[in-house]
Amino acid sequence: MSKAEQSAKREYPLGTLYFYLTKGCNLRCRHCWITPKFQGEEETHPSLPPELFGSIIEEAKPLGLSSVKLTGGEPLIHPQITELLDYTRTEKIPLVMETNGTACTAEIARSIASCERPFVSVSLDSTDAATHEWVRGVKGCFDAALSGIKNLVDAKLHPQIIMTVMRRNVSQVTPMVRLAESLGAESVKFNVLQPTARGEHLHETQESLTIEELIELGRWVDTELSKTTKMRLIFDYPMAFRPLGKIYSSRADGCGTCGVLGILGVLGDGTYALCGIGETVPEMVFGRAGIDRLEDVWKHNPVLQEIREGMPKAFKGICARCLMRPRCLGSCLAQNYYSNHDLWAPFWFCKEAYGKGLFPATRLAGEGPDDKSVVAA
Ligand code: SF4
Ligand code: SF4
Repeated sequence: MSKAEQSAKREYPLGTLYFYLTKGCNLRCRHCWITPKFQGEEETHPSLPPELFGSIIEEAKPLGLSSVKLTGGEPLIHPQITELLDYTRTEKIPLVMETNGTACTAEIARSIASCERPFVSVSLDSTDAATHEWVRGVKGCFDAALSGIKNLVDAKLHPQIIMTVMRRNVSQVTPMVRLAESLGAESVKFNVLQPTARGEHLHETQESLTIEELIELGRWVDTELSKTTKMRLIFDYPMAFRPLGKIYSSRADGCGTCGVLGILGVLGDGTYALCGIGETVPEMVFGRAGIDRLEDVWKHNPVLQEIREGMPKAFKGICARCLMRPRCLGSCLAQNYYSNHDLWAPFWFCKEAYGKGLFPATRLAGEGPDDKSVVAA
């Protein structure tokens, strides 16, 4: 039996649908990798019709669906967001929500809270309005985000705060933890600025931190800052840099891997894609809801099959030498493809760290490509 036939026979449950509900967003973030069109009060952009949302979920159930993630654009500006939330609640599908918080009214917060096992993360890139609004491009969005978080906490939800760390806000890492505590957050996740879409420009203009700075900051967050708070702190650098205790503990956060073998993206126009990368990379688009059967897309799309057949042996460069590879799965295939047009290219962070002699020797396998090939891949 060929590898392709073996892969087609093996069952891969479609655990989570990532719904990028809206083609528009009410913010204009400088680091956004989805690049939605700006949606002010005057404009509207397409969003996923509720009937299609429901029919996709129905098609996904027999494939193994166990949760949905609602993200964007900005999910809470979807004109029928309450209807979509009602649907997930009635169907008892666990809900993950990623929002910029600005449109989270008290009523929406209560609606989210009454869904099945809701987990909400809210982006906050600074503890002051000027810096947050420099990153997010819209005046007033800092107070609006704080008000959204307050509404969530009043509804008995304890959101995760997500801060993307860059030169402009790096001095606010500790203040962000203190602010998150005072707001009633459950955890803080520090994202590394990725060189994808708009984030590429920030890398080119040195707004991103250097690899040396990121590794040092991540280790300090993991070992020192974590001791000062009861909240979970997650620094989202690749697994090879994380302490083993953080990777394997009972409260492991799944950070550093995206679960690519069990997820599928649905964009605001009903397009099926690997994830939100389908907005900028046409090769990562796999079909369209209402036209293509989800089962056909999930079981037979050639890119998804290539991913299943290749994981984790096909990785190149440092990812081929890394002991974390079976668990980390190259950190982010979408990012790797975006930068290199190659699904199996190594993740940029680890490649750069290795080239500078900063990759942890304890996470390197004795066998694999030699040094020259690792650096060149
Ligand atoms: S990062 Fe999120 S909030 Fe900002 S523009 Fe992109 S989708 Fe909108
Ligand atoms: S080298 Fe690759 S597999 Fe290893 S931690 Fe980095 S991204 Fe993950």
